[in-house]
Amino acid sequence: MALNRTYLDWNATAPLSAPARAAMLDALQLPGNASSVHGEGRAARAAIDKARRQVAALVGAEPPHVTFVSGATEAANHVLTPDFRMGRAPLAMSRVYVSAIEHPAIREGGRFDPARVTEVPVTPAGIVDLSALEALLAERDRSVGMPMVAVMLVNNETGIVQPVADVAAIAHAHGGLTVVDAVQAVGRIPVDINALDADFLILSSHKIGGPKGVGALVSRGEVLMPKPLIRGGGQEKGHRSGTENFHAIVGFGAAAQAVRENLHDRNAKIEELRNRLEAGMRHAAPDAIIHGEGVLRVANTCFFTLPGLKSETGQIAFDLEGIALSAGSACSAGKVGESHVLTAMGHDPKLGALRISLGVDTTEDDIARALAAFTKIAGRRKSAGEAA
Ligand code: PLP
Repeated sequence: MALNRTYLDWNATAPLSAPARAAMLDALQLPGNASSVHGEGRAARAAIDKARRQVAALVGAEPPHVTFVSGATEAANHVLTPDFRMGRAPLAMSRVYVSAIEHPAIREGGRFDPARVTEVPVTPAGIVDLSALEALLAERDRSVGMPMVAVMLVNNETGIVQPVADVAAIAHAHGGLTVVDAVQAVGRIPVDINALDADFLILSSHKIGGPKGVGALVSRGEVLMPKPLIRGGGQEKGHRSGTENFHAIVGFGAAAQAVRENLHDRNAKIEELRNRLEAGMRHAAPDAIIHGEGVLRVANTCFFTLPGLKSETGQIAFDLEGIALSAGSACSAGKVGESHVLTAMGHDPKLGALRISLGVDTTEDDIARALAAFTKIAGRRKSAGEAA
């Protein structure tokens, strides 16, 4: 990283953590293909199995129920499908219900035909509307298969925690399955697949200090499974073929173990820094809006609007001050799009918003720098307004 930069975009991606780096450097010495029966192959297999235990432990799952894939986007495309199997028998999912604030990886509906993707609204507070979900499931055609409900545990833009156990209870009462995108939740709040009553969890390594290009689909059991997305040599018990991305999987496992340790203390420190930042922001610009302020949010995220400041302009202005932050979710090709999350919460689609997201390495100096930049940018906005 260049000198004089402050990285405050941990929800987009986290820097590789020291334990992940060390585990990967060790793994890079191993030449083995985990499917080979010789000693080198068995060593690679053992390292993958260890990572499977580490990832399972992060979410209270059984290690055999962790399928390694190339990331959360692949996990979503794998599990969001009308084609399921119960044991060997085919089982049809009729429709997928996705919340309006899902990441595009889920919102697109995976392998469901777009006509079979139903959006579930959120309340103005940014929380999945449970009565709307209940009503949508109640009015469905029961003769065409099981419904599937896909909801995130923590929103990547606002940091707002979603009532996933309530969503699961509603989905199950209607004979459906629940898929939970836990990408932004792990490492920030305790996540337990059984406590959430989720049927599937989606995880991504690079959001928790592991390498990019690896993630997992975690299931509650093994009886009800989606038809594989990638078929071939039958790796990952046939759920995901292709030689395992062994070095990345090992890094993911080490990162998963690291974020599980000291979860509470680490996040308490992060929350203190985030609160200090927000108090300073309110002082410097009393008209600033902090989205999700009044509801349960993870400790590391601050999603805010400075009236009169566009997302693009704001992002560039902070970048010029040496601060890396983002305008909500990072779109492809660095485009700054409108926030579908704020739109779903009832805001004007043109409302500019910026996201500061902290991580384990964020320091008091980083926050002081971000606040100094904020004060400068907010003030400039004001004087530009007065001059106009
Ligand atoms: N879900 C959420 C909530 C995310 O924040 C992201 C990444 O931005 C994804 C899914 C996609 O993850 P991946 O980059 O592993 O495909």
